Amino acid sequence: MEFDTIAAISTPIGTGGIGIIRISGQNSIEVAGKIIKSKRFNSIYDIPVRYAALVEVYDNDEFIDQAILIKFKAPHSYTGEDVVEIQSHGGMVVLRRILEAVIRNGARHAMPGEFTKRAFLNGRLDLSQAEAIIDIINSKTELLQKNAAKQLKGVLSKKIDEIAEILLNLISSIEASIDFSEHEVDEISPQEIEKSIDTALEKIYRLLKTYETGKAIKSGIYTVIVGRPNVGKSSLLNRLLKEERSIVTDIPGTTRDVIEEVLDIEGIPIILVDTAGVRQTEDVVERIGVERTLKSVERADLVIFMVESDGITKEDIEIFNSIKNKKYIVLVNKTDKGINISQDEIKKLFNKEGIFISIAKDENLELVEKAIKEAVLEQNIEGFDEVLITNLRHKELLLKAKEFLASAKQNLYSVPLDILSIDLKNALDSIYQITGKNVTEDMVDRIFSMFCIGK
Ligand code: GDP
Ligand code: ZN
Repeated sequence: MEFDTIAAISTPIGTGGIGIIRISGQNSIEVAGKIIKSKRFNSIYDIPVRYAALVEVYDNDEFIDQAILIKFKAPHSYTGEDVVEIQSHGGMVVLRRILEAVIRNGARHAMPGEFTKRAFLNGRLDLSQAEAIIDIINSKTELLQKNAAKQLKGVLSKKIDEIAEILLNLISSIEASIDFSEHEVDEISPQEIEKSIDTALEKIYRLLKTYETGKAIKSGIYTVIVGRPNVGKSSLLNRLLKEERSIVTDIPGTTRDVIEEVLDIEGIPIILVDTAGVRQTEDVVERIGVERTLKSVERADLVIFMVESDGITKEDIEIFNSIKNKKYIVLVNKTDKGINISQDEIKKLFNKEGIFISIAKDENLELVEKAIKEAVLEQNIEGFDEVLITNLRHKELLLKAKEFLASAKQNLYSVPLDILSIDLKNALDSIYQITGKNVTEDMVDRIFSMFCIGK
């Protein structure tokens, strides 16, 4: 494919040792040639491909900077087109001036993600790999970056291709059966069809199972600390963050608002939310806090439910009732003040063993992190040596494929082969959309608009 010539500053806004202006498209070399001079090469066309050439950059006739220029010839470049990268000094003004000079000489400003979009359109990457690049750029934790790197390398693409291959073979066998049945060619049996569908389904399930962990490492685990006033919620948050963030006091109800902090447990962002006690109150400010608490609990992926070791109150039970349908862990705090409740009682009341801690004496707090980790990774990190689905779009397409295959399986003995193959083709279509073999222009635009400019 041939496109017009685009340009952008591809390094972050700000000052740095160097900054890079990237130009891509059929005229990129010609355009760059108009703004540079080189002592060593008579023209930009004489500079060898992928050679770091020292050049002088001119804006009209004014010398503006010294730079390194690298030429890439299609298709061996990031975008698959002719690309020129100009590495100048990294000042905002100089980068802007070079970019504007490039634009005046025949390029246009690149849209967000346009370089990567071209890489996709020119077949340098499939869609899931292009999406991996967004994730690599945006990764806030090492785990997410690692997973995205695998996706970029094509680990996910390979798995998707395997599923597509099974469906493609199945569809062609069925089609052959339909064509040749009059000529008494062996027709594919329902058992054979079922076997292929099951193999594909099994692979789809395995990928879908990774989504929960995938989503966790991407979006974080929204973890809400609840308990009656004064049980030690704010103290716990501070202790886990190892810094004084929320206000800790002796006055019940002082944590009046919802406070969110992010804890990194083995690469998984845990968004910790400290809440006001969930109790009836007349105080307006506190009441707003209580309402927010209930909202936070609603969206929680995990609840840390806290009680005190000197006894369980009616209020504790009420609070427990409002969270018991969530995934939760039970902390029994202030053991330094004495323990008037047994593990058995905790288990009976809250359907789960409690973790007995003393925040004041710093006892058993490592068990809290461990419990959070275990609760989060309940689905376990199995499959992590493979690749995790972190993208909602991928998950939804896999679910769609799963439904089409389930429907085909259900109708296996009741509908003719040509009808059956419609479901199979739809399943294949959904699978293909993950790697972008058959996506609409609209979808492509939507995905690449999530990139930043210059990428
Ligand atoms: P919150 O209302 O649930 O947020 O409770 P805070 O974290 O504000 O704590 C209330 C009071 O209990 C503060 O005075 C804390 O210092 C105290 N506290 C917290 N944890 C412990 C503990 O393990 N032992 C003792 N003795 N006091 C604690
Ligand atoms: Zn508090």
